[in-house]
Amino acid sequence: MIKLTSPYQHCTLCPRNCGVDRTQTRGRCGCTDTLLLSRAALHFWEEPCISGTGKDAPGSGTVFFSGCSLGCCFCQNHEISRGAVGKATTQARLTEIFLELQAKGAANINLVTPDHYLPDVLAALSAARPGLRIPVACNCSGYETVETVRALAEHANIFMPDLKFFSPDVSEKFARAKDYFAVASPAISEMVRLAGPPRFDDNEMLQSGAIIRHLILPGHHKDSLQLLNWLAEALPKDSFILSLMSQYTPYLQSPYAELNRKLSSYEYKAVVAHAEALGFAYIYTQQRTAAKEEYTPPFDLEGI
Ligand code: SF4
Repeated sequence: MIKLTSPYQHCTLCPRNCGVDRTQTRGRCGCTDTLLLSRAALHFWEEPCISGTGKDAPGSGTVFFSGCSLGCCFCQNHEISRGAVGKATTQARLTEIFLELQAKGAANINLVTPDHYLPDVLAALSAARPGLRIPVACNCSGYETVETVRALAEHANIFMPDLKFFSPDVSEKFARAKDYFAVASPAISEMVRLAGPPRFDDNEMLQSGAIIRHLILPGHHKDSLQLLNWLAEALPKDSFILSLMSQYTPYLQSPYAELNRKLSSYEYKAVVAHAEALGFAYIYTQQRTAAKEEYTPPFDLEGI
């Protein structure tokens, strides 16, 4: 038997299950074994219970990891999600970054797509304790294994998964992942179970719990309705916060014609009305003006 000297040498960290040696080559996530970050800064455009609101908002201590195991063709963070842009970082520096964000007043540490660097992220979080006292949020695509979710839950108080696609045909078309819903549905159920019901502090900032986010895609609002039906059947309606996002922005010319426009008011209102009719206890909605490019921060290596 060959002894592996790196946890990335036969990588099966995500449902793509490539098995590649990331010390030698890139996996489907676009990443080698070098930890690449593209930004670590206070971010003010997450949900109010994550970033805060008003002029005294603390902001969320957001750490953007380069690369992504899902790789949607319409990615709103496409500059970094292909894994090519970022600064090489060590585990020790990542620990310092967490503590620096806390010192800047961040309400939480917000890990954006950390799963393909899981061994480094867990080690860095472990080293940051007990100095790190703010909640840790895992902001991910929903395309995670249950094992990865359980490992992250050792340190994460908050899960913020996307729930992207219901139909296997839609997920295959846009992310080459026919199994997206089959993978994401148990992973997200486990996140909700492990995080527990939403718990807020006196300033209405989330301390623990799950925010399930759904970006409604132009031309596919019926897929969104199916996802909502599943959520209503599968999970207690007061066990998570639902965040319905209208901010889809067509950054790149897509070969799929429906993706080359913003979401219509009709599509967004239909999804929100369905969610309300299903009776979820916590629903965040977005202003239609949210479909602006400034919701995506500059990936300028700030804070790394
Ligand atoms: S994390 Fe990357 S290399 Fe590892 S299995 Fe997933 S896509 Fe493949």
